[in-house]
Amino acid sequence: MSQKIEKIKYCPQGHSSEDFAYSNLRNFIDSVGNCDVCTKERFIQEFKTWSSGDANIDYNIQEFQINDIDNKLHWIPYVNFQNIKHIADGGHGSVYSAKLENGIKWRWNFIKRDWEYLLTGRKVALKEIKDSRIDIVESLKVMMTANENRNATNFGYYGISKNPSTQNYIIVMDLFECDLHNYLTKKFWDLGWRQKLFILSLIAEYLETSHAKNFFHCDLHSGNILIGEHSYDLHLRLGINLGLYKLENDLILNSNNKINIIYGSIPYIPPEVLRGNGFTREGDIYSFGGIMYEIITAQRPFANQAHDTYLMIDICNGVRPKVPDFMLNWIPEWYLDLMYQCWSDDPSERPTAVELADLLFVRLNNFFFGIIDNNVMRQLKIAEENQKNTSKFQKQELFELVSDSSKLHPQSYYIGRYFRTLRGLHDLLEEIKSGKSSDPNLLLLKSK
Ligand SMILES: [Zn+2]
Repeated sequence: MSQKIEKIKYCPQGHSSEDFAYSNLRNFIDSVGNCDVCTKERFIQEFKTWSSGDANIDYNIQEFQINDIDNKLHWIPYVNFQNIKHIADGGHGSVYSAKLENGIKWRWNFIKRDWEYLLTGRKVALKEIKDSRIDIVESLKVMMTANENRNATNFGYYGISKNPSTQNYIIVMDLFECDLHNYLTKKFWDLGWRQKLFILSLIAEYLETSHAKNFFHCDLHSGNILIGEHSYDLHLRLGINLGLYKLENDLILNSNNKINIIYGSIPYIPPEVLRGNGFTREGDIYSFGGIMYEIITAQRPFANQAHDTYLMIDICNGVRPKVPDFMLNWIPEWYLDLMYQCWSDDPSERPTAVELADLLFVRLNNFFFGIIDNNVMRQLKIAEENQKNTSKFQKQELFELVSDSSKLHPQSYYIGRYFRTLRGLHDLLEEIKSGKSSDPNLLLLKSK
């Protein structure tokens, strides 16, 4: 008799491995003290021991603790944070880093009769929401959904806290080292095509996942893409910061789907939206074109120009950022074609997120395994060699040239702000063009 009989396991509480801990997942019990049902019951027992002060937040955290095996959210009391440091201010709140002193509860250990903790002593990001119109639970759910990804994107959300002195709620999440813009500024000359394609392919995958859920980012730019350097592949992990902009744009979109005021950074916003139409998934693809540009030039689009109504009109007339001539032999022709296709004035001519993700994935893979089987891959290989063969001295010279030409214009704005669309300017547009009226899109500025 060689029939293999799966042995049923029991925990000291009498739960069996045949029980269901979650709707379609059998209970997992092991010899080191893990039982999913015990963990779940322990979470439920503790519901009465904490409260955020908001019944809706409590309810949603409890739902995650009962129903989601991987993404548990926690109520994290503010006293749990140490060494709180201010990082940045945004349109809706501020971000801080802090040490999570005691970690967060992960699972109940039935042998030790105690919790096992995650993230003990680790640094996390605290996003304090100062805009009371924003529903913190909805925002958190949207961010978690949009960042679910089939690849290396690993953007952790841990829970909610509250600042006792301001009474503002806080989203507790992964802390990343820097954003894509800072990363490129530091690493540009060391990055080969493998890393460049890898970064783009992760972002395209993020768009693919969120577009499949009918979620559009609406404010994708290099400052919203966060990079960490200790992941398993290529030493990079990436998160997309939503910064609640999607929700904000929902708030300012009026009933006929036309926009008079928009939130964002002009160089990344598609012409149709600058004109006053609603943001669609094709709009994110246009923004992706801006990221493709920065990956190959280390410059943000339209860095040396004022981000004013004139620039908006130029963009609507088809003006796009220019790649410096001396860089052209480091870039495959198909790449430039793809970038300009993302920037197409006609949204229907832009590639879809699925097309982008598939194409970049295949090229990244082929490049990685040295499969140079067609013209596209040959162009990539030549571009890589041309860049490698540029001497350090030449690179230094070129670097100075780039930093010179990309000197930030004092009226360039890469952090989200409110400005009027061409539709929103109405009759004022003619007066601005003729110089009779000053440009409200330079006066409306909130922050840089
Ligand atoms: Zn148990």
